[in-house]
Amino acid sequence: MTATQGSQALDEITDWAYAPAPQATDVVSIAPENGLFIGGEFAPAADGRQFATVNPATEEPLAQVAEAGQADVDRAVAAATAAYEQVWQPMPGRERAKYLYRIARIIQERAREFAVLESLDNGKPIRESRDVDVPLAAAHFFYYAGWADKLEYAGLGPAPRPLGVAGQVIPWNFPLLMAAWKLAPALAAGNTCVLKPAETTPLTALLLAEVGQQAGLPPGVVNVLTGDGAAGAALVAHPGVRKVAFTGSTEVGKAIARTVAGTGKKLTLELGGKAANIVFDDAPVDQAVEGIVGGIFFNQGHVCCAGSRLLVQESVAEAVLDRLRRRMTTLRLGDPLDKNTDVGAINSRVQLDKIRELSDSGEQEGAERWSPPCQLPERGFWFPPTIFTGVSQSHRIAREEIFGPVLSVLTFRTPEEAVAKANNTPYGLSAGIWTDKGSRILWLASRLRAGVVWAGTFNKFDPASPFGGYRESGYGREGGRHGLAAYLDA
Ligand code: NDP
Repeated sequence: MTATQGSQALDEITDWAYAPAPQATDVVSIAPENGLFIGGEFAPAADGRQFATVNPATEEPLAQVAEAGQADVDRAVAAATAAYEQVWQPMPGRERAKYLYRIARIIQERAREFAVLESLDNGKPIRESRDVDVPLAAAHFFYYAGWADKLEYAGLGPAPRPLGVAGQVIPWNFPLLMAAWKLAPALAAGNTCVLKPAETTPLTALLLAEVGQQAGLPPGVVNVLTGDGAAGAALVAHPGVRKVAFTGSTEVGKAIARTVAGTGKKLTLELGGKAANIVFDDAPVDQAVEGIVGGIFFNQGHVCCAGSRLLVQESVAEAVLDRLRRRMTTLRLGDPLDKNTDVGAINSRVQLDKIRELSDSGEQEGAERWSPPCQLPERGFWFPPTIFTGVSQSHRIAREEIFGPVLSVLTFRTPEEAVAKANNTPYGLSAGIWTDKGSRILWLASRLRAGVVWAGTFNKFDPASPFGGYRESGYGREGGRHGLAAYLDA
């Protein structure tokens, strides 16, 4: 081979693309029309209303879904109340545990079906739904099954009692996983549930309801009301609901807090965030870059605890950004059902418009925008992985939750400045630290006003670990022993 041939071969190697690796969709069958799940049965909404759920990667409708109204909320709460009083609350914890274990195992058995359905309805890459969302959802049920017969040893009093009916409203970014986060501790503690999934991602919650049927869960213990924000509002306001759990935007969280105030209902809110991912000059750069990429581009940045503000020490900023840009050019954006895809579709047009608007404001306010060369599919909702440099703390992109694959980069010189900048946000959900020094991690972690602080990693979840925020990121904890407290009257 001549030198010229050699360099041609190298060009070909650096140009090569992955062959398509499509995930088959025939493991899933989506009914054209889907009812509400009330009292153990699927049924249309009382007034027959429906809405379409679409595949955000193609904009094609996937199915029609029943739209719950006030009458349906009343019926679901009545079913959950009857199940609470007659079956679930009197049942010994060890018996409740069996149902939770069964649900966990069935999720594992039907894992591929859940993963494909989640990627179709949400737009997230199959690699993530298959390797993160579904296994973690099963893990949550396994974990809380273990608590169901040990509640008196949870450190929450000698005889903690369940609260009654839990009204649970969840968002579209992790539809199945958020359903698991809500249902598993509530059921383990002896409560019954009415769950309202997000309008754009109702399908895996309905499949989970079917899994409940398959596990023989007594009718009314779990009810699923698909619908819009009005159904969520009616649910949290219902007098029969004794506990409200919400994950979503800070704005809606505040509205719910106002509704619930003075009613005696127990409330947990898991709201937005604007996490700082802090990289010091002694950090292992390659690992930090992986952590930055995972922190903001995982799930298209639709993550409440996303590391959406990169704080990098000034002396290494150029080197880190250089490697970050290089790493970003290797991210593959496209078909969520391709097993090689790293960045999938934005969940809805509304969310895409919000990301575009905030990104445009970044440019208008003087920050510099950069995305790797990448071709966006013609149909569907897409936004390229993007970083902004030259960001100042007053910019909207440094203050507001973008909830998309957009990273705002700021620099700092001293650890004190890193702390001040990291805490300069109304939120307080999460933070990340990248340094070689353990003492610095401890020094920093105790000064960061965030519910979760990761060191040397980011977006790491475990059912045994409590998760939740401060200030505008909400209150209460989900996961771990702490997650039980929200569902017990101790
Ligand atoms: P919302 O807070 O509006 O939605 C979350 C859930 O609440 C959905 O099920 C929604 O129903 C329901 N809901 C909406 N209004 C009410 C109400 N008044 N009372 C009770 N429930 C209600 O989030 P969006 O989907 O509109 O997203 C907006 C922004 O919120 C995003 O851009 C992002 O910044 C942030 N967000 C943060 C999340 C987090 O985990 N921290 C998760 C999702 C969004 P429906 O789907 O019909 O609107």
